[in-house]
Amino acid sequence: MNGEEITQQMKRLLYLIAEYTKSEEKYGVLAIKELPVLSLIFRGILENILDYDYAPQSVMYMDNRRFLNISKEGEDDLDDLRDAKLLKKIRLATRRHVFIYAYNLTVSGIKFLDSIMKEDKNAIDQLIYCKCGDLYSVQVQPEGIFMICNKCNIKIDTEITDIEDVAYKCSPIRLRTRLTRKSSNIRDGEKK
Ligand SMILES: [Zn+2]
Repeated sequence: MNGEEITQQMKRLLYLIAEYTKSEEKYGVLAIKELPVLSLIFRGILENILDYDYAPQSVMYMDNRRFLNISKEGEDDLDDLRDAKLLKKIRLATRRHVFIYAYNLTVSGIKFLDSIMKEDKNAIDQLIYCKCGDLYSVQVQPEGIFMICNKCNIKIDTEITDIEDVAYKCSPIRLRTRLTRKSSNIRDGEKK
């Protein structure tokens, strides 16, 4: 592990991903795609279960680019978990030949789960498990990314797509238009 410390946040993140790789009580069977991971991280920040910062960032979203609330610190921890050989990132090709990524645990990562404190596991369980005991499925939809329990008919918006439109999307475009117009007016004026 190169002597690098695995922080409490990294442990929580590893356990979060681990739960989504479980099939019939066995870890590492499934993989979870990157967008659901990033959405759960953001939801975890909102619920004070993960202690990371975040900022709007343009990412691929259903074959388009879109601004999402992305945690750079969360992404850094994902990278550090890979460097520590606890996590692996898998590249998948979509039907439209765009590459997307998914995460799974390594054998060492699965073994490492035993050393994660119950307190940290419980905190993540509160985030990802419905009261009925089922794991929320994370679904990417045009209107947002949701945590869903079909049994209980619960649909929680992770709010990863809730960006302040004015500040991050529209205003830079409007500003550019206004400036462009102004500068062309000046040029017209100079000619006359
Ligand atoms: Zn439920």
